[in-house]
Amino acid sequence: MKETNGQHLISLFEHWAPKSLAVDGDTVGLQIGTLNKTITKVLVTLDVNLDTVEEAIKNGCELIIAHHPPIYRGMKNMRTDLPQGILIEKLIKNDIAVYAAHTNLDIATGGVNDLLANALQLENIEILEQTNSEQLMKLAVFTPKESTNVVRAALDIAGAGQIGEYQSCSFTSAGEGRFKPSDLANPYIGQANELEVVEEDKIEVVFPVSIKNKVLKALLTNHPYEEPAYDLILLESEVNKKGLGRIGKLPKKLILAEYAEVVKKQLNVPFVRVVGDLTQEVQKVAVLGGDGNKYIQTAKRAGADVFITGDLYFHVAQDAEAIGLSVIDPGHHVEQIMKHGVAEYMTEVCIQNNLLVEFISSKISTDPFQLI
Ligand SMILES: [Zn+2]
Repeated sequence: MKETNGQHLISLFEHWAPKSLAVDGDTVGLQIGTLNKTITKVLVTLDVNLDTVEEAIKNGCELIIAHHPPIYRGMKNMRTDLPQGILIEKLIKNDIAVYAAHTNLDIATGGVNDLLANALQLENIEILEQTNSEQLMKLAVFTPKESTNVVRAALDIAGAGQIGEYQSCSFTSAGEGRFKPSDLANPYIGQANELEVVEEDKIEVVFPVSIKNKVLKALLTNHPYEEPAYDLILLESEVNKKGLGRIGKLPKKLILAEYAEVVKKQLNVPFVRVVGDLTQEVQKVAVLGGDGNKYIQTAKRAGADVFITGDLYFHVAQDAEAIGLSVIDPGHHVEQIMKHGVAEYMTEVCIQNNLLVEFISSKISTDPFQLI
């Protein structure tokens, strides 16, 4: 096991929840301090407040990973006699960096919404509102027969040829290649100014556009020709679909009142607010962590019987009632599920990478509401 620095640690985190997944206008990434230092302990929290900063200090954490960005609305000053300035001053004086993973962590596979969907006992989980996807590319390359296996293997290692749950997918067909090298060429096969006919294979593979450079590098490094011939075509098919919220089915139908009890227990909250007929049966469930007021119609269109989301406004609740969509509001604080989820995921990643870093899930509730 070896020590690591903040940049390396966050690059591993962003492999899971890249900043590019965040919705437009969101504030994600490093917000306070620097990642250019050794990190041995990380506190994972939903919110950064004076209590969680104190917890980070007590535990000797050099980094906080938070879901809610502490700097969110445009900061106009940094006065150390006002709450936000006091918080930032305390973090800087104690050399604690803060990294925010907000909507990118909501959207990431295995992120906040998947954690909630799993806790809510959903099966056949799908994305509620797609926000991101990648186009596929197709590479067709012509290789002399003796090099086909080497080139195909290099493309495979670079990540090309993955289709759904199938890896190393490719198609190879045989044919004849013709070329005439010029005086200035340095041909692998053939002589200057003589037409050459070579038995060649055509290898075809697909890959997401994000790994284009890696695939091309693998091709050009492993192909024996001075000027390999290849076609690169952008396809209409999309892969790596990601999005906000999840929708799935309960293993069996439940009465809404019964399911509200399940939600309370599973999300560990003392109460929920419910919109809809408490005696109706529900099975298809949509969930969106945090504030899902904008997604009432999306949940209805997706066929949800009930939508689980927080911060429900009075008039949005009336709208939901009017369109016949039941809603269970367990509060915004249920997103605290990310504390354990992120700590567990990153602990596993660090073990795999032989890194000596401890992830601590904050024990402090940052829910401002009390039930009396
Ligand atoms: Zn939130």
